[in-house]
Amino acid sequence: MRIDLHTHTNRSDGTTSAAELVRHSLDLSIDVLAITDHDTTEGWAEAVDVAAREGLELVRGLEISCKLAGHGVHLLAYLPDPTYEPLAEELERVLAGRNSRLPATLDKLRKLGIDIDVDDVRRRAGAAAAMGRPHVADALVDIGVVRDRAEAFDRYLGPQGPAYVNRYAADLFAMIETITRAGGVSVIAHPWASRHNHDALDAAGLSRLKDAGLAGVEVHHQDHDTPTRERLSAVADDLGLLATGSSDFHGDGKVDHEVGCNLTDPEQYERLLDLADKAAVASGRTTPEVVRP
Ligand code: AMP
Ligand code: ZN
Ligand code: FE
Ligand code: FE
Repeated sequence: MRIDLHTHTNRSDGTTSAAELVRHSLDLSIDVLAITDHDTTEGWAEAVDVAAREGLELVRGLEISCKLAGHGVHLLAYLPDPTYEPLAEELERVLAGRNSRLPATLDKLRKLGIDIDVDDVRRRAGAAAAMGRPHVADALVDIGVVRDRAEAFDRYLGPQGPAYVNRYAADLFAMIETITRAGGVSVIAHPWASRHNHDALDAAGLSRLKDAGLAGVEVHHQDHDTPTRERLSAVADDLGLLATGSSDFHGDGKVDHEVGCNLTDPEQYERLLDLADKAAVASGRTTPEVVRP
């Protein structure tokens, strides 16, 4: 069983459509795929349609921009009811924050002598509901200032870069509760990635988040080296959190993140589905079903 629980499409900052993502995953012998765009469920319908027709097990999810103790944390939310008002409203706020950040980023670039228009970035972002720095990076590539997204983040857009602008993110504890009330399951994405500050996500922090409803942590991810995976896996075991693995595929937008490059153990996936069933019942909401071939 090849199970990949974290992937992006061009509805956020991936470069493939949802249909292409599903077909690409089938080409790579994936059995179960989760679509988890940043802060939007816009890719769900297309992914469901193609997965049902072409025979791929598909889990509807998203990766929500949250903050804890002033630092960004990405929360993977699986199978929540997207019509649950508090969830829909908070996603609106996050998307609005993405949109309002863009002009501020471009102002900073202009002061560095780089002239990019908001409309250029919007055109570049195409189908994306969630605009982000990767789309600004693409515009920088277009005008020949950098070679690729990675160089754009290194030189301009990363947290230490001269064109960095902060944006609105949801409170992590509140969002975990919201996902539970929406009948979904919460898993922290790449919690110990070296480019994030993760002091608040130590074992004690994760234990508090579990008490608030957190179901798991993403252990097998390209941003975690082998010793990190071993330590995080031990903490997850200790706390009774489930441990997932995934590619964080972004199409051509991120090198070394091919679909299936990290996988989730089938036993962990079964646990996740079990928790999703329980959450759905407890919430009393109509949550998305897993699409089964
Ligand atoms: P934003 O959503 O605008 O805050 O931008 C952050 C997103 O950019 C992350 O979620 C990644 O998908 C992507 N990203 C971060 N660092 C890099 C990098 N070095 N190269 C390419 N994409 C990156
Ligand atoms: Zn991304
Ligand atoms: Fe992430
Ligand atoms: Fe991601």
